[in-house]
Amino acid sequence: MIKNAKEKIDNLKIEKRAFIGGEYREAIDGEIIEKTSTADGRDISGLSSCKKEDVDIAVRTAKKCFEEGIWSDKSVEERKKVLLNLADLMENNKEELALLDTLETGRALKNYYYDSIPKSIKAIRWFAESVDKYYDHATPPKKTSFATITKEPLGVVGAITPWNDPLVVAAWKFAPALLMGNSVVLKPAEQSSFSILKVAKLAIEAGVPEGVFNVVPGLGETSGKALALHNEVRGVSFTGSTEIGKKILQYSGQSNMKKVGLECGGKSPFIVSKQCKDLNRAAKILAKNIFYNQGQICSAPSRLIIDSSIKEEFLNILKKEGEKYVPGNPFDIENEVGAVVSKKQKEKIEDYLSIGMESAKQVIKCGKKSEFIKDGSFFLPTIFDGVDPNSTIAQEEIFGPVLTVLKVDSIKEAIDVANNSKYGLAASIWTGDIDEAYQVSKALEAGIVHINSYGEDDNTVPFGGVKESGLGKDKSIYAFDEYTNTKTTWLHSESL
Ligand code: NAD
Repeated sequence: MIKNAKEKIDNLKIEKRAFIGGEYREAIDGEIIEKTSTADGRDISGLSSCKKEDVDIAVRTAKKCFEEGIWSDKSVEERKKVLLNLADLMENNKEELALLDTLETGRALKNYYYDSIPKSIKAIRWFAESVDKYYDHATPPKKTSFATITKEPLGVVGAITPWNDPLVVAAWKFAPALLMGNSVVLKPAEQSSFSILKVAKLAIEAGVPEGVFNVVPGLGETSGKALALHNEVRGVSFTGSTEIGKKILQYSGQSNMKKVGLECGGKSPFIVSKQCKDLNRAAKILAKNIFYNQGQICSAPSRLIIDSSIKEEFLNILKKEGEKYVPGNPFDIENEVGAVVSKKQKEKIEDYLSIGMESAKQVIKCGKKSEFIKDGSFFLPTIFDGVDPNSTIAQEEIFGPVLTVLKVDSIKEAIDVANNSKYGLAASIWTGDIDEAYQVSKALEAGIVHINSYGEDDNTVPFGGVKESGLGKDKSIYAFDEYTNTKTTWLHSESL
């Protein structure tokens, strides 16, 4: 339990400089990023704004370490031990990491302290415990020859991460990349860099050699682009918007055809069939997943696709469930929901709300704003009913606590409406009919399908989308593939 959160933040020494070669340093040109916390309006400027030259130093440092083998030549057992140490150190610093993330992103402290930070620690532990089980490939020997399949590290890996779950997404990338023996240069989102800058230092304390894990904060167009274009970077793993994901692919083509992994946006469908047995539970799970973190979750189910015969009943239940997600003071550990991340995000949500007000037939607001949140970057859960499936609010990712309702008259129509999207991240079908569950789950174009559930999470299963939601997978044993080359080596006998 965190008490006196704001006082603790006041007394914290926050590291805002880049982390390269095992030490903190300013950007070469000394430039910093100016910003204000949406959690309490305080000035939190000072983050180093790295440029091409800074990224180049980080990449060359990482490459030198890789070639010298100070990390890549260590045994899997040793690397595993170090990452487990890091997880322990993060556990010891859990409170500070949660405070830093709330200060920077405005998201509720309760989310970070009890959910997000423990989740990132658990992911690191899972990858560390699993890495040796990854090497299980073999080929049968022939009379005169045999082949071996080896999994080699790529070399220098670039990771580019978003702000909506800073340490979880970072851990999904740096843990498997380091465990496979790579050196890493990570570019966090400019909105959420403080906690990962702290973790980079903890990694050294845990036993990662200096220079193997570097963090280059800065703007996407400068440090992010320089990293993705760098010829010495052999793989880049990106999580963020589809728009920037497409650029990352282009950068790979323009430079050295580096391996690319992309986790991008979504507009995930939540289908409620008239065969659904428990509308109360469906509404509860839907509200939790679309309104949590002010809707700033890539896999949030932002399109409710529902049979017209049960729509009114369902929306009445949903409105009550939505009232549990009215935002409040992010630093109050009792609060479930805090602010949105930035002024830019606030304006983006406001724009979509105005479009929705004009285009939807009915607007349902859940709960009332309190005095405290009246003028801040906080939004009430909003439901737009009577929406055209091809309209802007039904097609574009809003990344706010906004749900669009699309009514259908058959399960076939529900599938067509669900797949009528450029995205394909997550999806859900609610039905008591096993055949319907099977047919719909098979037909849905999505990387993750839930049947009578949503947002289930486990390190053992992969996370990633299809269509314009991405390429490749985070989490699970598949994630190690993203950071390795699979090499085939033939050995032929000379004494025949
Ligand atoms: P974003 O695409 O604006 O930024 C993501 C990262 O890319 C940031 O670090 C940013 O600085 C960097 N970047 C921006 N321009 C760049 C460029 N030209 N070259 C290289 N890097 C660049 O996304 P965001 O606003 O930080 O995050 C929200 C988006 O992320 C949403 O679309 C959300 O759906 C998506 N997301 C996806 C997942 C997933 O797993 N699929 C998870 C979380 C967030």
